[in-house]
Amino acid sequence: MSIRSIRNIGIMAHIDAGKTTLTERVLYYTGVSHRMGEVHHGTATMDWMEQEQERGITITAAATTCFWRDHQVNIIDTPGHVDFTVEVERCLRVLDGAVAVFTAVEGVQPQSETVWKQAERYHVPRIAFINKMDRSGADFVGAVASIRDRLGAYPVPFQLPIGQEADHRGVIDLVRMVALVYDDDSLGANFEVTTIPADRLEEAARARVALVEAVAEEDDDMLQRYLDGEPVEAEQLMAAARLATISERIVPVFCGSAFKNKGVQPLLDAVVDLLPSPADLPAVRGVSPDDPEVAILRKADPDEPFSAMVYKISNDPFVGTLTYMRVYSGTATSGTLLVNPRTNKRHRIGRILRMHANKREDIREVQAGDIAAMPGMRGLVTGETLCDPKDRVVLAPMDFPEPVISVAIEPYTKLDEEKLSNVLAKLAVEDPTFRVNTDEESGQVILSGMGELHLEIIQDRLLREFCVNARFGRPQVAYRETFLRKAQGVGHFKRQTGGRGQFAHCVIEIEPCEPGEAFSFHDKVVGGAIPREFIRPVQQGIQQALERGILVGFPIVDVKATLLDGSYHEVDSSEMAFRIAGQMALRDAALHAEPALLEPLMRVEVTTPETYMGAVVADMSGRRGNIFQLESRGLVQVIRAHVPLASMFGYATDLRSVTQGRATFTMHFDHYEIVPAPVAKQVIAKVRGI
Ligand code: GDP
Repeated sequence: MSIRSIRNIGIMAHIDAGKTTLTERVLYYTGVSHRMGEVHHGTATMDWMEQEQERGITITAAATTCFWRDHQVNIIDTPGHVDFTVEVERCLRVLDGAVAVFTAVEGVQPQSETVWKQAERYHVPRIAFINKMDRSGADFVGAVASIRDRLGAYPVPFQLPIGQEADHRGVIDLVRMVALVYDDDSLGANFEVTTIPADRLEEAARARVALVEAVAEEDDDMLQRYLDGEPVEAEQLMAAARLATISERIVPVFCGSAFKNKGVQPLLDAVVDLLPSPADLPAVRGVSPDDPEVAILRKADPDEPFSAMVYKISNDPFVGTLTYMRVYSGTATSGTLLVNPRTNKRHRIGRILRMHANKREDIREVQAGDIAAMPGMRGLVTGETLCDPKDRVVLAPMDFPEPVISVAIEPYTKLDEEKLSNVLAKLAVEDPTFRVNTDEESGQVILSGMGELHLEIIQDRLLREFCVNARFGRPQVAYRETFLRKAQGVGHFKRQTGGRGQFAHCVIEIEPCEPGEAFSFHDKVVGGAIPREFIRPVQQGIQQALERGILVGFPIVDVKATLLDGSYHEVDSSEMAFRIAGQMALRDAALHAEPALLEPLMRVEVTTPETYMGAVVADMSGRRGNIFQLESRGLVQVIRAHVPLASMFGYATDLRSVTQGRATFTMHFDHYEIVPAPVAKQVIAKVRGI
């Protein structure tokens, strides 16, 4: 398979737009899946994790390979739920192109905007599929307009629907100027290619002119033909359209009904004809492991030195740990020795698997541009690079947000306890936004994640996949602490209890710094007042104290610490003594530095019918929400607000009751902000148990 025949694509959609149904149909027509599973009978091929089927959402990204017109299409399943934006981002990193699914009734929905913006950020070329043309209220023109108006994109129809709502029978192909009419009896596997209905000819001709105009500038020869009034051939038009799509100038629009088996094959043609192969994209950027300032480019070429990124680690019920990698350059076969440039650990590739929806296929080698899974690779973490040991490179790492919510967990039995730590470690490797800590004081195991649903799903998996029984506490907000003022502090540690004494003395200054900077340390000691080998222990001591917090025990962030002065004793000073002095100095400075509590603020977007807008806004104010935008969209209102996570627990249920189930919402972490003093007082009292 040549690299030009590979397509790595994702299907992006708002929940319920029909992504699962469409994926199913794609697998059916490409011959992978021979029975067409209906989503709501829980047999969808892609949704192989049990609880995903129950919830009707897709959580993990499995890469599924299928073949169409001698091209290898790797479908990377992108999750629709915003609690998993990090999964979406991770998928976007390894995709080369995407199909964005919208419904013909609603057009662009709020959550599609979030994913669309992410795709823009990662420069993923997109084509759009307007699904559900068969539903009552379907409006192709309106849906196309919403792509232009709400996403600020340049949508160009490549098809027009033949019939809308119950009359939907097929599509007009504007490139070849033919009609495709589907045969309902063959589940859409057969369709007739015929002439465009006479009453649609004029409309189709106009739409084709618009299509030619949209892409003409990509091809001078074609532009000239068009200006001279000569016909533009389908092949030439498609080639220009491909360039315009890959450079993200246009978004080609297709339509149909996944559920009624219409329009899926032409969409697959479009994936092959319009979306880029790995060779069409710029070389991937990385840096030298020895010097992050030195940039290294790797071309998508099987003969370049090997580089790949681990983008997903999952647990497969049959083969255990599966490490998915996207290969950017070079070739590897089973037996090839690779290195992780971060840890310098070597990894020998064992088996290489290609994942199909219903089977795993052993392949001998994997080349630039492809995606493959490897069973049994240990010690790798999502986001890491694997490269040729003789020619190393670190591909730009993925950014993962810090978890904002946590929950205490207690195993029921001794056996559960033994299993638990193993299983949790496994899950944490799979999912970098999921963390496991042990509370030093209570000894409790604390799990942290990105939202209520995220933790619920982990709870589910523990029970079903790993059979670990545990009691979960109430979810808690992951607060943090910071300082509001500059202050100095002294740490003086002295012990004289017979034998050898202990002595360390340091003076530090702490001050708030820019949010997100976490911690920085500066050494301004002069004249060797503290010998060099004791400087780092002071820093370590300060950091230890920061991790333990001052107000309630949440980690302190956004602090700059400067070591100003100190003294030592020839015999009694030690690293340990200076670590303790560092801790003491930090706690001393904190007395005057006005410690404050920080809380995660979520960006919440509610879409509600006009009638309930007052109720939603009032409820939002009651949650300390700050509404920053109200937008009316036809019959619905979109309310955007920043709301503290602490007051968002159980929001789904509350919103349902104030709007009789007519509103929907999305929520994701936005930033940390200082908790207002009266609220902070309550939080502190509650955590301390007073
Ligand atoms: P996902 O959440 O995006 O994966 O959406 P699903 O594929 O689960 O589809 C959501 C619902 O819409 C299901 O009840 C589907 O049967 C239905 N659906 C999907 N595609 C179509 C379509 O083209 N027409 C109609 N009428 N319903 C559809």
